[in-house]
Amino acid sequence: MKRAELLLPAGNLEKMQYAIAYGADAVYLGTADFSLRSPKTGNIITNDNIKNSIETAHKMGASAYVTLNVFANNEIMEKLPPLMELLADAKPDGIIFADPGFYSLIKRYLPDVPMHISTQANVLNYESVKFWQDLGATRIILARELSLKEIEQIANKVPDIELEVLVHGSMCVAYSGRCLLSDYMTNNTRKSNQGACAQPCRWKYSLIESKRPGEEYEITEDQHGTYILNPKDLSLIEHIPDLINAGVCSFKIEGRTKSMYYAALVAKTYKKAINAHYEGRSINIEEIYEELSNAGNRGFTKGFLLETPDSSHYDYKASKSTLKSVFQGVMLEKIDNNTFKIKAKNQLKSGEIVDFITPSFQASTEILEITGEFGEKMEVANTNDEVCIKLNIENSPEDWEWGIVRQKEPNYNAIKTEAYVHS
Ligand code: SF4
Repeated sequence: MKRAELLLPAGNLEKMQYAIAYGADAVYLGTADFSLRSPKTGNIITNDNIKNSIETAHKMGASAYVTLNVFANNEIMEKLPPLMELLADAKPDGIIFADPGFYSLIKRYLPDVPMHISTQANVLNYESVKFWQDLGATRIILARELSLKEIEQIANKVPDIELEVLVHGSMCVAYSGRCLLSDYMTNNTRKSNQGACAQPCRWKYSLIESKRPGEEYEITEDQHGTYILNPKDLSLIEHIPDLINAGVCSFKIEGRTKSMYYAALVAKTYKKAINAHYEGRSINIEEIYEELSNAGNRGFTKGFLLETPDSSHYDYKASKSTLKSVFQGVMLEKIDNNTFKIKAKNQLKSGEIVDFITPSFQASTEILEITGEFGEKMEVANTNDEVCIKLNIENSPEDWEWGIVRQKEPNYNAIKTEAYVHS
């Protein structure tokens, strides 16, 4: 039986490479116009680099699926044929879509590319699965709102189709993003179903009585207020064996706007859990959640997997994503066994204890020395500096080139948050 795959987001080429190096068997990527929650600016996947990104994933041994899961208006639809022509040449391993309007164009331009039905299509039952299968779909990305039992029933009723499940990342308070809250709250300038959600479900709300305009009544849990629509993040890592036994073949991680550190850490942790299952080993759940909480999160929930979510599924007191560690840098070059050129992503200090992590290695170690461009000793390196650090390790791991340095912050909640944007 084929092993279940680990599927990570590729917000850009660099994040994609880290995700694959740290364990992703496949990645999903999309351009801003056609995919939900894809970054809109900066270092992103575009028509110009999508072919190169797919080729790079293939060279690294991973599959690459292209996400076209917006619900398009006519204007967006007109931009689709040129992208289809590009994709026919780029040869992705799957096309993810939800809008039926894309179907005939995919059939025409990409007849040999497997069709994956996006979670935005809200497939909740086996008849929907059969419907898409009859149209030629090879994989269904099931709605997040299904229980383990329902997933198992679908797999039994439709055994000859691939089932993918979202196992980790931000949740919508609405049906998997089929939500007009953002459109409504931003006067249609940030449309949820066209990849521009402003996340009003994370906003802080108060109450106004219609005859008293301007008088706001706080809805207050405590002095911080309350976030009445704010779900915690999904994490189903401890149910990987249950999901494999239920018939799931692909585990999707959400988060195209999240950092390369997030991609690396979550990929490594989930790969560990998947490998443990196939090798008949158990995993230490506490340790594994501890490691996941080093990447940005809003607290964890199991969503709909075991029961209908109750109030414990939400965080009413805060909506910011927090993390228990600081991403300090990535290795650029190996100077000798324990000295590396590093690009600082946050401040590094000589003498501090850091974690040095690669796909195959992890150690807590001291920064023995920091040196600058001309060999001068430095006490501190700041964000974006490229400096050399000497670590207190005997031998560097073979895969040092994917090395990441981070620090665990004892008082992390007070000082560090990930970007207030989810993907
Ligand atoms: S993130 Fe929130 S506002 Fe945006 S689509 Fe999901 S539920 Fe709606």
